[in-house]
Amino acid sequence: MSTTYTYLTDNHLRLRDQAHEFGRSVIAPYVTDMEAAGTHTDRELPRRMGELGWCGVFIDAEYDGMGLDHLAKTITIAETAYFSGAAGGILQASHIPTTAIVYLGSEQQKRLWLPQIAAGLLWPTIAVTEPDTGSHVLGMDGTARRKGKGWIINARKCFIGNSGIAGLHVVVVRTGKPGDPRGLSAFLVEADRDGIEVSQPDLVGMHGFTCGNVDLRDVHVPATHLLGEVGDGLAAAYTASVVCGRPNLAATALGLHRRVVDETIAFLNGRHRKMGKRHRETRRLSDHPVVKYRLADMQSRLMAAERLAYDAVHLLDEGRSCDAELVQSKLVNNLAAGESLRDASSLHGGYAARTDHPITRLMRDIQHIGAPAGPDDIQRHRLTEKALGVDRPQWSEAFIRRTHRPAPAA
Ligand SMILES: Cc1cc2nc3c(=O)[nH]c(=O)nc-3n(C[C@H](O)[C@H](O)[C@H](O)COP(=O)(O)OP(=O)(O)OC[C@H]3O[C@@H](n4cnc5c(N)ncnc54)[C@H](O)[C@@H]3O)c2cc1C
Repeated sequence: MSTTYTYLTDNHLRLRDQAHEFGRSVIAPYVTDMEAAGTHTDRELPRRMGELGWCGVFIDAEYDGMGLDHLAKTITIAETAYFSGAAGGILQASHIPTTAIVYLGSEQQKRLWLPQIAAGLLWPTIAVTEPDTGSHVLGMDGTARRKGKGWIINARKCFIGNSGIAGLHVVVVRTGKPGDPRGLSAFLVEADRDGIEVSQPDLVGMHGFTCGNVDLRDVHVPATHLLGEVGDGLAAAYTASVVCGRPNLAATALGLHRRVVDETIAFLNGRHRKMGKRHRETRRLSDHPVVKYRLADMQSRLMAAERLAYDAVHLLDEGRSCDAELVQSKLVNNLAAGESLRDASSLHGGYAARTDHPITRLMRDIQHIGAPAGPDDIQRHRLTEKALGVDRPQWSEAFIRRTHRPAPAA
């Protein structure tokens, strides 16, 4: 991270240094074993990150959070992902359901759940996606129907981030007619309720991070577990996704992207060739002009992507409507990291084919950035609407109206 961002405070810089040191000393030594274990549920990194209070980075101090801003969240995710995509994934996935609780939770719900989340003692998920309907959220099949004073939930959810370590699921299901924007509702469902089964298909990368199926069969929750009002499910899902999910994925991509650039430079600087007449001249691979051009492109992409990731959340922290900027920050960060990875792959020669080489871990992990919080084509769809002046609800505006407080002095 450069220091050219005038809005970075001492708090941000301290947090960045703390996160970097944690990544270097705690996460990095752990990564080889995490990779070797393949798809599995890691509990040690969540425990260690939870102890630092990072799950509560933007939770208000009155609910025992750190009371910092969305930029602080972006910084911790990016620094963590720099050392391990899985660690970044674990951290960022906890913030998305937290956003839904901050946005829609009653005072009683916030007092019950937010302090546990902030302390790292309870990991929440947001369970929206279903196998048949995917990103078409309004088409989902899962339902909640009233029974007595409570609700009975039936749904099959898939790709649920942190499903393996969760203590609480924010579940969005149908309570009204298909296609009706007020036809969905959100519920707070403890993970140990009868009728919940979690399973984990194999994943390409981010080993240690779980992103599995959560099946709910006749799961009973009391009326107090409705989040917001009946009909607020779309607002829960979209606000969490736009205000938190998209910038979180931008931050994860940013951390991985920076690592791609650093790994590539270290690799190129470390490879020497005898060149010139009588092979007397030694050159590093990074001395070749063509290689330098590629590095320049990678660096330029990284700087542009970083600026978008920070600027978008800074707008949110300033209380300004910024849906398009949040969407763009995810799209550009994902595309830029992918392009730099293609350059890095060429520059690594045969080593890009070795599963034990760090660059191939980054290739595997970046596969996990595209789909969450909406695939690239959905972001393009939103940006086309912006270009054409289509009138859409602004989820950031609604979130700010309900939650924004002027930032504390640095
Ligand atoms: C690592 C990871 C973590 C995730 N975490 C969570 C989580 O915590 N909670 C959760 O609920 N979900 C989560 N997801 C699921 C994610 O949100 C979905 O994968 C995503 O919404 C897309 O759904 P789908 O995979 O079914 O693809 P589909 O919706 O079937 O889309 C497939 C492709 O079709 C095209 N397409 C579909 N619809 C449109 C459209 N309207 N406009 C333009 N193109 C379109 C796009 O090219 C898209 O990529 C996660 C996924 C991954 C991989």
